[in-house]
Amino acid sequence: MKHMEKAPLMPTRVFVLVLMPILAVTLVPYYAFSVGFSAFDWSMGVLFAVITLHSISAGYHRLWSHKAYHAHFAVRLFYAIWGGCTIQNTILNWASDHRNHHKFVDDRDRDPYSASRGFWFSHMGWMIRDHKGGPDDFSNVKDLVRDPIVMWQHKYYIELVLVTNIALPLLIGYLFSTALGVFLLAGLLRLVVIHHFTFFINSLAHIWGSQPYSDGNSSRDNLILAVLTFGEGYHNYHHSFQGDYRNGIRWWHYDPTKWVLTVFSWIGLTSRLKRASQLQVEKARLEMQYKRALRQAEHLQEAARWCHHVEERYAQFLVALEEWATFKQEWYQSKKNELLATLERAELKQRYAELKKNVKFQRQEWHLLTAQLAAV
Ligand SMILES: [Zn+2]
Ligand SMILES: [Zn+2]
Repeated sequence: MKHMEKAPLMPTRVFVLVLMPILAVTLVPYYAFSVGFSAFDWSMGVLFAVITLHSISAGYHRLWSHKAYHAHFAVRLFYAIWGGCTIQNTILNWASDHRNHHKFVDDRDRDPYSASRGFWFSHMGWMIRDHKGGPDDFSNVKDLVRDPIVMWQHKYYIELVLVTNIALPLLIGYLFSTALGVFLLAGLLRLVVIHHFTFFINSLAHIWGSQPYSDGNSSRDNLILAVLTFGEGYHNYHHSFQGDYRNGIRWWHYDPTKWVLTVFSWIGLTSRLKRASQLQVEKARLEMQYKRALRQAEHLQEAARWCHHVEERYAQFLVALEEWATFKQEWYQSKKNELLATLERAELKQRYAELKKNVKFQRQEWHLLTAQLAAV
C-alpha cells in the first residue's frame, strides 16, 4: 500500500486555531476567579461577537462570495473590517475557497473543506495543514480583485487583525473598565467561539439535519446551527439556491442576517436583493418529497399501484403550481395596465384565486398521500 504523506502543518494557523482555544479555556476562567469580569466586559464580548458573526455571514458569505445583493460603500467597509476581525483569512481567500466549496461540493480533492473527508477535516483540519500545496490563484474571484475595498483589506489584513483583536479591546477596556478584562472576552474568547460557530457550517451542517430541497449533496438544514450563526444553518436551502440573499426563506425562519439586509434595503444601504422564485423553491421541495415517496412506495405491497398513485399526484401538483405561478405574473402585469377594464380585471383576479385554491387543494392531497405511505 502506498504511504500517504501528510500535508505540512502551517505554524501561524496552528497558533490561531489550536493555541488560542487553549489560552481561552485557561486564561478566561483563571481571570474570572482571580479578578472577575464586569458587566461591561461581558457586554463588549457579546457586542464584538454579534458584529463579527454578522460581518462574516452578510459580508464575506452572502455579499462577496455569492453576490446576493449590492451594498453601500460604508456597509462594505464595515463588513471588510469586522469580517477580517474573525481571523478567517481575507475576503479574497475566503470567497475563493467558498466558491470552490459550492462548485465541487463533497469532492474529496476539489472541495477545500469537503465533508466527505470527515468531521474533523471539514471543521478545522483543512486549514491547519497546507493541503493546497501553494498559494490560491484567485481565478474564481476575478470580480473581487476589481473591488477596491476587497483589495485594501487583502493588503492590510494583518494590521486589521491586530488592531481589531488586540489594540481596540485593550483600549476600550483601558478607558471604560480594565484592559485585560475586555481583551480576554471581546478579543480572545469571542474569537474562539465565533471560529467554531462558523466552522460548524462546513462540518455539522453537512452531517446533521434535514434535506428538504436536495439530497444531491451532503448539506443539511439545521435550526440549532442557524441560531448559532445568525441564519447560516439553512444550509441545504443555501446549496440549492446559493444566489439568494436569504438562507431561511420563511418569515419565521431564524435568519437575522436576512432581516438586517432587508431593513438596510429600506434605508438605501443595500439594494438588488436576489431571491429564488417561489415556484423554483416549491418545485425543488416537491421534487425531493416525490423522490422520497417513490422510494417508500417501492417497498410496499402492491408497489406498482402505489408508485402510479404517487406519480399521478406529483404530476397534478406540479401542473397546479406552474399554472398558478405563470398566472401570478400575468396578474401582476395586469395591475400595472391602466387601460384594462374593471370587469376584465375582476375576472383575472377570480381566475388567480381559483388557481391558488387549486394549489392548496393539491398540496393537501399530496400530504394526505405521503402520510398514507408513511402509515402503511
Ligand atoms: Zn456547504
Ligand atoms: Zn455559500
